[in-house]
Amino acid sequence: MEDPTQIDSINKTCYNIQNRNKMGCVHVVSNIPNIVLFALQRLEGKGFDAYLVGGCVRDSLLGMTPHDWDICTDALPEEILQCFEDQEVVCTGMRHGTVGVVLEGQMLEITTFRLDGTYSDQRHPDQVTFTKSLELDLKRRDFTINAMAYHLQKGVIDLFGGRADLQAGKIRCVGDAKTRFTEDALRILRGLRFSATLGFCVDETTARAMHQERMGLRAVAMERIRGEWDRILLGGNASIVLSDFFSIVAVLIPELQSCFISNDQAQVEWRSLANTIASSPPSRAVRWVLLLDLITRRRDAGVARQILQQFCYGQKEVQYILQLFKHKEKKLLPEPPCVKRVLRLLGMQGILDLIAVQEALATSKGCRRALGNLRRVKSLAREIVGSGACYSLDMLAVNGKDLIELGIPEGPKVGGLLEKIMMQVIDDQLENNRESLLHYAKGVLHEFS
Ligand code: ATP
Ligand code: MG
Repeated sequence: MEDPTQIDSINKTCYNIQNRNKMGCVHVVSNIPNIVLFALQRLEGKGFDAYLVGGCVRDSLLGMTPHDWDICTDALPEEILQCFEDQEVVCTGMRHGTVGVVLEGQMLEITTFRLDGTYSDQRHPDQVTFTKSLELDLKRRDFTINAMAYHLQKGVIDLFGGRADLQAGKIRCVGDAKTRFTEDALRILRGLRFSATLGFCVDETTARAMHQERMGLRAVAMERIRGEWDRILLGGNASIVLSDFFSIVAVLIPELQSCFISNDQAQVEWRSLANTIASSPPSRAVRWVLLLDLITRRRDAGVARQILQQFCYGQKEVQYILQLFKHKEKKLLPEPPCVKRVLRLLGMQGILDLIAVQEALATSKGCRRALGNLRRVKSLAREIVGSGACYSLDMLAVNGKDLIELGIPEGPKVGGLLEKIMMQVIDDQLENNRESLLHYAKGVLHEFS
């Protein structure tokens, strides 16, 4: 049975990560996918130790479906390669002990047990050392809930109280928190991310060390920071994390420091913003606009672009967020021409995001009349889009070529006339059919020739 070469031949019925709930009954939390079982059994069949580790054990014990399944083993990278010589492998991470094995089109990461060396740049361990000890591998991991392993026969290996912390909903460092954050300050944000997404609280000692070591985040690459920050911002528990860890957010966005005139005011306004953000839909653009709204209350609006660029978002995303930001106070009337104009400007997702921003701001100000109005705008926008009504140039029944054929010289005048026709259609003065649009165009041709 060991070392099956066919993934389909695996008997997986007995391999489930199990967890006891408070009543003491065992229930299956998650099924391990066939390809993962195959890899574990293949390594074990060749005489190595193989475990599931990290996020997949944590998520399985929480009853969630893991999005990746990491395997750790005492096999050295070369030995992992030999074990999977009949499979497609990816070797780019081998220096750090990771071999990617592609099974049924999916890549599994298999990593040799390792200890991280010193961290002279607070980013990468200077060197990694492979080890035969699972314990040492678990010890280098960031939080107790991420430092558990699972073995097909031995079950859950929990050397640092990860299960108890999972049950208590606690984020706690493995080892001395201060040391762990000086080694790699990104762990501070990872901890806040787990708190924001899982709704866990941060253990007191760990929280204190996060505050103390927060300046280390300045040395961390923005791409790494952004990955965690986005998940904090969108997390279901974002309100508490943002409120309680202002000093850390202010390291990421230094512009926050100068937007309050006193500490008391900072406390009140920041908490209120954290609640507003958390009650808005989990859209990155919407939540960023709410944040930028606060930052720019006492600053030049130009800082908004700078901040987004510092976070290295793509150009398209920056443009989109800035567009929403620019129109955040736009008057939205529940009337077709107004809604169509905004649809034209921002598209359907854009108008929904803009409404979400305005709803969040209105809620924070207790402005109920505005909320009713926004609800009507939203349903009207859906109605307009659902009916196929025209609100953009590409939906117009005539195009530039048609106008040129009528005798308009090629160039900006074509755009000018198209715009005029578009506005007539949006304002319900003209029906969007070719005949009536061409008839109208002929009537105003003299203005454009
Ligand atoms: P998710 O995959 O849901 O984002 P995760 O905890 O699995 O969460 P990964 O980046 O996939 O995160 O990392 C896998 C495991 O590697 C973690 O569970 C943890 O044990 C360890 N790990 C990741 N990053 C660090 C780090 N910066 N310091 C220490 N251990 C880490
Ligand atoms: Mg993971």
